[in-house]
Amino acid sequence: DLKMIYFVTPTYPRPEQVPELTRLAHTLMHVPRLHWIIADDQPACSDIVSDILRRSGLPYTHISSPKPYIYKESNIPRGVANRRASLTWLRDNVHEGVLYFGDDDNTVDLQLFDEIRQTKKVSMFPVGLIGTYGVSTPVVKDGKVVAFFDSWPGSRTFPVDMAGFAVNIEFLKPSASMPYIAGHEEDRFLVSLGLKLDEIEPLAANCSKVLVWHTKTAKYKKPSLKINLEKIDDLPK
Ligand code: UDP
Ligand code: MN
Repeated sequence: DLKMIYFVTPTYPRPEQVPELTRLAHTLMHVPRLHWIIADDQPACSDIVSDILRRSGLPYTHISSPKPYIYKESNIPRGVANRRASLTWLRDNVHEGVLYFGDDDNTVDLQLFDEIRQTKKVSMFPVGLIGTYGVSTPVVKDGKVVAFFDSWPGSRTFPVDMAGFAVNIEFLKPSASMPYIAGHEEDRFLVSLGLKLDEIEPLAANCSKVLVWHTKTAKYKKPSLKINLEKIDDLPK
């Protein structure tokens, strides 16, 4: 019996949202035993997001989880209220399975799902296209994580990206939390689990393969177009 993967995606409205979620849906549709949790950074669940979820045919949960008002202006940290709401939902509804935080704009190799499904406590693996080093990854020696390779250590215990780890839900403590501190969300979350370095399970061939990328879509800039109504009026009636 395959363990269920709970794939948690924070998302927010913008011109790129539907294409990002469409592409992600088309990846996830290939994955067996996956429950998609989309946490919408809006006061109500949006219909366009609901429609993508419904048409995916996947089991899903759609949560409305707007960021608190004080973070509206700065727009950082990104996707925290929604991930926290997803953690609450998991705590209330799920007792086993594997949690993975999958942003709406990342790119995932299907092999990653076979890997993270094996997670006993916390597993880790490389993430491509991160920072100035181009990859963020645990450093593995004799099958154990001994250090981290990340271009922004930021005095973090676990300097990893959100896409670089998975957690067995049985290891999710009631104290599990994610702070509203940009750059420290992952580290503080992992620390809140009471994770020890020697408990980390390195995946992706001892962290030698990149199976997920922190891709970013260029922001669509609305061109200033003036439609020439006169020309349209000139058309033969
Ligand atoms: N996000 C969100 N609300 C926001 C900004 C971002 O829910 O106000 C989501 C976004 O859809 C994505 C995740 O949080 O799934 C991380 O955001 P983004 O990809 O913009 O950040 P970066 O790639 O720069 O870490
Ligand atoms: Mn992103």
